[in-house]
Amino acid sequence: MDALQSSALSFIDDMRALASTRLSQEVGTLRSEAHERVALLYPSPYATGMSSLGYQTIYREIHGSGRGADRAFLPEDVPAWRASRAPLFTYEGERPVSDYAVVAVSVAYELELAGLIDSLELAGIPPLAEERTNRHPFVLVGGPLTFSNPLPLAPFADAILMGEADQTIHTALDVLFASTNDRHAALVALAREVPSAFIPALHGDRMPPVAQCADELLPAYGQITTPNTELREMFLVETSRGCSRGCHYCVMRRSTNGGMRIVPFETIFARIPSTAKRVGLVGAAVSDHPRIAEIVERLADEGRGVGLSSLRPDRLNDRFVAALRKGGYRTLTTAGDGASERMRESIQRKTRERHLVRAAELARAHGMERMKLYMMCGLPGEEDADIDELVRFSTELSKIIPLALGIGPFVAKRNTPLDGQPFAGINVVEHRLERLRRGVRGRVDVRATSARWGWVEHVLAQGGQAEGRAVLAAVHAGGKFADWKRAFNALPTERPRRALAIIE
Ligand code: SF4
Repeated sequence: MDALQSSALSFIDDMRALASTRLSQEVGTLRSEAHERVALLYPSPYATGMSSLGYQTIYREIHGSGRGADRAFLPEDVPAWRASRAPLFTYEGERPVSDYAVVAVSVAYELELAGLIDSLELAGIPPLAEERTNRHPFVLVGGPLTFSNPLPLAPFADAILMGEADQTIHTALDVLFASTNDRHAALVALAREVPSAFIPALHGDRMPPVAQCADELLPAYGQITTPNTELREMFLVETSRGCSRGCHYCVMRRSTNGGMRIVPFETIFARIPSTAKRVGLVGAAVSDHPRIAEIVERLADEGRGVGLSSLRPDRLNDRFVAALRKGGYRTLTTAGDGASERMRESIQRKTRERHLVRAAELARAHGMERMKLYMMCGLPGEEDADIDELVRFSTELSKIIPLALGIGPFVAKRNTPLDGQPFAGINVVEHRLERLRRGVRGRVDVRATSARWGWVEHVLAQGGQAEGRAVLAAVHAGGKFADWKRAFNALPTERPRRALAIIE
């Protein structure tokens, strides 16, 4: 054995040991001897995958139906794994992902497409569906991205379950396991049996509507707690699904899947195990639950830590913030999204300055250490004057409580009123970020998402199958921003070149 082989073997031994350690630290891992097993792949590393309530829900759903689900994740160090030449394996089964009849994948957002391609290639599965044969697994994709624009995923998926898959996953697996020897027949049957299944080989670009699961299946709730995620040892439970508001940029607005479905107070608590020391309340609009203050108060009174996945500033009041503080909150995190009142008005975001001032005052009054505020940059019609307003206003907020701003570039999503709006331009976004940083220097901490990767996300959010295929070229070229830019620029379509023209 030469030195290279020996180091590859030692790397994989380390990866197996890491998986085994993570498994041993989990509470709630499901194991079964079921004959029909699915590799449940998350195209980002373990810490991200295990923070996804949707991924955990599908894991439990598959086990509950009498089948087995073994998890696999994008490795933290993809180049090292690739160099080892070892096949990607599942955590529970320690089997190569390519051994399974079905690989089910949950994709949250556009940039995870690169992780999907890397994961399939590490597993030895051709990433392009058209290159797979009967000896390869079916690649069945679902997840939050299906609510906006899954078209760039289409070249890589045998089938895409649109929308909520809590129920459709079962019918889809029934069909696929019944016809594992004939790929085409399986896909035809899937299209017939599951109206929300998008089969690119049969449907082209015509996507069916998203599915909505029965209200009785709500809430989604976590299966596994682990110390190895950012949400350490936190039990996740859904308090509502969807949103009743209508922010113009948001995929989860009221027009998506029937608005907001509220989980009753008693049902939420019936799902929370008595052993859960920390509880994460999950939903697009958690703080819009009519009994949210009471829920947080009760959890805090029971001595549990509490986390909320979203907090609207106009919902805060004395009782609510007191409960959050008692539940362990030290930073009040909320969002305003538009840089100025004019911008917020234009995107139908109902947050006003007075809501944010009140939030800061409440946070200070209840002994929180700081406030974190998410905003977007580069919305349609935005000007330097809007950024100047944000400078003025965030400076005022910072006099009430230490403030951090989290800024993301605006990316227009399909199925929203702002669909089709162009990206502001990398130079424009960087210029405005610099103006903001200069304006608040020394007073407010500014953390911004890269404008360049915002542009990549924009091309995919607005793109089709050609843009998806370009991701393969970008990943193979090394995955740096220049590789993505070159791959998109080589496309014959107008959209990405138009977007690129803005940055050149
Ligand atoms: S941004 Fe938030 S409040 Fe607005 S529609 Fe989306 S989920 Fe609802």
